[in-house]
Amino acid sequence: MIDLIVFAKSYAAAREKFSNAARARGLALDSRENAAVKGPDSEALYSDVVQLGNPHAPNRLLMVSATHGIEGYCGSAAQTDFLNGPQADLAGEDLSIVLLHANNPYGFAWGRRVNEDNVDLNRNFVDFDAPLPENPGYADIRHGIVPKSLDESALKEANRAITEFGKRHGFDRVQEAITRGQYHDAEGLYYGGTFPTWSNRNLRDVIRTYIAGAEKAALIDFHTGLGPYGYGEIITEYELADPAYKRARQWYRGEATSTIGGDSSSAALTGTTDLVFHEVLPGVTATAIALEFGTVPSNEVFAATRADNWIHLHDKPGSLQWDEVKKQIRTAFYQEQDDWKKMILERSRDVIDMTVQGLKGDH
Ligand SMILES: [Zn+2]
Repeated sequence: MIDLIVFAKSYAAAREKFSNAARARGLALDSRENAAVKGPDSEALYSDVVQLGNPHAPNRLLMVSATHGIEGYCGSAAQTDFLNGPQADLAGEDLSIVLLHANNPYGFAWGRRVNEDNVDLNRNFVDFDAPLPENPGYADIRHGIVPKSLDESALKEANRAITEFGKRHGFDRVQEAITRGQYHDAEGLYYGGTFPTWSNRNLRDVIRTYIAGAEKAALIDFHTGLGPYGYGEIITEYELADPAYKRARQWYRGEATSTIGGDSSSAALTGTTDLVFHEVLPGVTATAIALEFGTVPSNEVFAATRADNWIHLHDKPGSLQWDEVKKQIRTAFYQEQDDWKKMILERSRDVIDMTVQGLKGDH
């Protein structure tokens, strides 16, 4: 049975649904406050962790929501649905399942993809002691990404700059230049930052505390905003020769894609959660995926993300424009229609099942 009540209207409501579902199972919440920031209603912002099953189990699964704040509407619902349903009983002596709810609570509460540092958390996991990754295409196209205003003429000019870049370099390069990650433009999009942010440190700590010591481990990081409406793409970032990629292909019945292999709706990225999962777990047989659900066409997602960046730079909450853009970005990353929500929960359950079978299997 599918119950859409797990989808919440706000970060605070999502947290409450998740916490109640955890308590109903008798689980203790490990609540971690990001004390440097508050939500739009001055509410405290937490990332919450629960663990099911034997904490020393050889097999462990970590599920993360709201890496990209506002995408947490989807991931939180999938996590709460998991806690409410029979799949939670899959955890036991040989399998521990850990849920990290709202790893970027600021972005979730404020309706943003980024965190409090304007950082795209899923580009923030790089080695900041080494030279930062370069993305020369971004600088070329920057005036299309960060427009002077949201007036029609300014947006037209910005879109023209992007189209021209595409004509010169190919339209595949447009997605790569914009979304791959960049480390120089703190007021821009897909900014990876210059230091490990709060959510970065939190995720590392959760992996170290709950997953280290496993023999086999899997990560499902929930995302939205890429690919066909309601479809959940199983995205990996592995080279095709990587044993982890072969494992993912087996576990997910050939459905796993690779950003490096080129069959994913995502460009190849730098500094992602998948990478840090492996980095913090040396010697563990680890398999990491992003489960990415499509919403609206990618040009609309980009326009909403660009507009949201603009209002946070130049406007204040309460203005007409602010409210309009907040609606726009919410639609870009979260669909209110029941058919979409149903697709999210059905696919999530399937992917969780396949992951558990994979963890318990021989590969
Ligand atoms: Zn995302």
